[in-house]
Amino acid sequence: MNNGSNSSSGNSYNAKTIRAMVAMYCRDCHHRQEICNECQTLTDYAINRLQHCPIKETRTTCGKCQIHCYKPKMKIKIQEVMRYAGPLMIKRHPGMAIKHLLEGLKKTSKKKKHELS
Ligand SMILES: [Zn+2]
Repeated sequence: MNNGSNSSSGNSYNAKTIRAMVAMYCRDCHHRQEICNECQTLTDYAINRLQHCPIKETRTTCGKCQIHCYKPKMKIKIQEVMRYAGPLMIKRHPGMAIKHLLEGLKKTSKKKKHELS
């Protein structure tokens, strides 16, 4: 068990995580050596949203956020990325605090928390 503790500057790891996840998704799903334009845009968008999220301090998951920071189209894309890369990231980097991200975005699935594999 690790508690996934974060430092107070809890933002950069999220940006890093998003970048890593999108890159992983793009490589496997778009079969690119380097991240494609579309995915690059998505990354920038997600990180931008993250940095400007007005409630990030409260650590509420984005899924519960009253302010819908993601445009619907972007949200669908990022959900796809999360769904694909999320479980892989947890396996490969269990220490990375991405559960927060996943919690917010996997609302569409009715699965329980620990059935992601
Ligand atoms: Zn791509």
